[in-house]
Amino acid sequence: QSSLNVFDTRIAQAIAEEVSRQEAHIELIASENYTSRAVMEAQGSQLTNKYAEGYPGRRYYGGCEFVDKVETLAIARACDLFSADYANVQPHSGAQANAAVFMALIKPGDTVLGMSLAHGGHLTHGAAPNFSGKHYHAVQYGLNIETGEIDYAEVERLAREHQPKMIIAGFSAYSRVVDWRRFRTIADEVGAYLMVDMAHVAGLVAAGLYPSPLPHAHVVTTTTHKTLRGPRGGLILSAHGDEAMYKKLNGAVFPGQQGGPLMHVIAAKAVAFKEAMSQEFVSYQRQVIANARAMAKVFIDRGYDVVSGGTDDHLFLVSLIKQGVTGKDADAALGRAHITVNKNAVPNDPQSPFVTSGLRIGTPAVTSRGFDENDCEQLSTWICDILDVLANQSNTDEVEADVLHKVAALCARYPVYGEARA
Ligand code: PLP
Repeated sequence: QSSLNVFDTRIAQAIAEEVSRQEAHIELIASENYTSRAVMEAQGSQLTNKYAEGYPGRRYYGGCEFVDKVETLAIARACDLFSADYANVQPHSGAQANAAVFMALIKPGDTVLGMSLAHGGHLTHGAAPNFSGKHYHAVQYGLNIETGEIDYAEVERLAREHQPKMIIAGFSAYSRVVDWRRFRTIADEVGAYLMVDMAHVAGLVAAGLYPSPLPHAHVVTTTTHKTLRGPRGGLILSAHGDEAMYKKLNGAVFPGQQGGPLMHVIAAKAVAFKEAMSQEFVSYQRQVIANARAMAKVFIDRGYDVVSGGTDDHLFLVSLIKQGVTGKDADAALGRAHITVNKNAVPNDPQSPFVTSGLRIGTPAVTSRGFDENDCEQLSTWICDILDVLANQSNTDEVEADVLHKVAALCARYPVYGEARA
């Protein structure tokens, strides 16, 4: 059998180019991270060959004795890590975990109340083009424009007015601590389920550095590849002690939403959960938050608006409304200097969702490669240098070239998977 390099040079080359990009560019997309070699080894294993529809001990296929061991371990570790009494490790992605919860707990046409995409929620929390907005009656809450924080009074008002069957808390772009208890109180008042999607902060929650939603929510979903630093995938958890609900959740994942589980990915999830139990992981998450705070402070000192005035987690949003710079232009200019961010809508954004007036900046990936607060402050300074020139409507070629040079030197000091070069 030929190796990839021999059999398919075009794919092998594209992978090699992506590996180089990951080493040579600074990754500030808040939802990305670099997994360990152990996680990638499990994910690249022969477990990809195995069909295992069903659950451990109750499979529709033979030969599942070893993958049963893997899934049982993954479930036990997930429960341990998050103090849950139920875990489903099979969802192929965060979106599929969320779809399964909808399917298990409510009916098409029912009302759901979730955070709007424009204010930091996720597509699956009721956005119009998504299944959650198409097949359910979605009502959306947002941020208080003055404070940049969740408007709990609005959540309460909307819940009373619309009587949702399910309230969704959780976010893709929010830098403050969510009051999970307050959400549960509102859900209880109207008799709704509370689903928390902790995808962005799951690693911080695992490390005990962000409040866990498990004691408050009926169901918690997450991805495994963001701050949690595992393989791409989804996970459903609960500490609610409701066996009947757990049965419905399992049935909604398989056979409701999915066929065969990705056993190689489940093995990689199990490895990531083990890594997340270590003291090293707690120190890593502490550094993630310290780095985000250090970066946000530089932006504020340089006169840029940071939504909500700072951060308590791994990300923050820079509003460029005042400077008249679009997120699209800023994203492109930084990209030319090998700094990868994503444009993001900010509260009161005058631009379309495709253009936006903001940037979302996250520190999980740079912290994994070893950046500390000093590196992050420097990095923020370079970003501000580029944004300043954009704000003056001047040509950015020179400043981009200068930053590109500095980025190359910093990346060489902190190789991700390769050897140190400086
Ligand atoms: N939930 C939240 C809060 C997210 O931010 C994301 C992805 O960005 C998802 C769910 C979806 O995860 P996936 O891309 O694995 O479907």
